Amino acid sequence: MSEPARTNVIAFGAHPDDVEIFAGGTVCSLVQHGYRVGIVDLTEGELGSRGSRELRSKESAAATEIMGVAFRENLGLSDGHIENSLGNRNLIIEVLRRHRPDILLIPAAECRHPDHGAASTLISEAAFYSGLRKIIVSTGPADTSRSERAWRPAHILHYMQSIPFEPTVVVDVSFVWEQRMNAVLAYHSQVFDPTYEKGHDEPETFVSNPGFVKWIEARARAFGYRIGAEYGEPFLYRHGPLGTSDIVRFLGQDSP
Ligand SMILES: [Zn+2]
Repeated sequence: MSEPARTNVIAFGAHPDDVEIFAGGTVCSLVQHGYRVGIVDLTEGELGSRGSRELRSKESAAATEIMGVAFRENLGLSDGHIENSLGNRNLIIEVLRRHRPDILLIPAAECRHPDHGAASTLISEAAFYSGLRKIIVSTGPADTSRSERAWRPAHILHYMQSIPFEPTVVVDVSFVWEQRMNAVLAYHSQVFDPTYEKGHDEPETFVSNPGFVKWIEARARAFGYRIGAEYGEPFLYRHGPLGTSDIVRFLGQDSP
């Protein structure tokens, strides 16, 4: 059996539009840089007040196409009930061992939506346990199953959702901003879309309010400004410290 390509980055989301909304520019920029990037959604967002499971799945496929990621998977966990259970951790461990990512982009530990914080804890713990070789998650033969080989991602970055934090890293996403917003706007049932509004009588949500997309843009402009870019996406590095033997190479590559 040939080895699947190693993955540079996996972005995890609790719901199908989370990655696009909160880390979409970073995902698009990584793809443009030529890295192998995948997205893994924990749930299908079936509890969402707008749209349906089927519609959200179609919208997610359209957004995935726009971003050009190498793969996207959905673990089918229960929306509104993301449990930090052995079974759920093992599902994530299987994904990590199969794709062997170096870096994870995951939700912030705290958010107004409890699923996001729950997802953050679940993924962080699974990433750790994935590195323990005595944890076996598959039933396949040991000599052929990649999911039985321990793998721990080297780094985890948390993207910012509704509760702000002082970021450790801001990624310049200016050159992919239009592409990134097109991926967000592919979720016609979730973000404000006058055409969708005309045909549906559904309640307004935090995300479907016309101000939401403006808020996402304003925040990206604000963080971008701090690093000298037009648009930036903030991340928190909580699992540090980062090590280096050469601080000039580590910090100085972007000096003017
Ligand atoms: Zn969400």
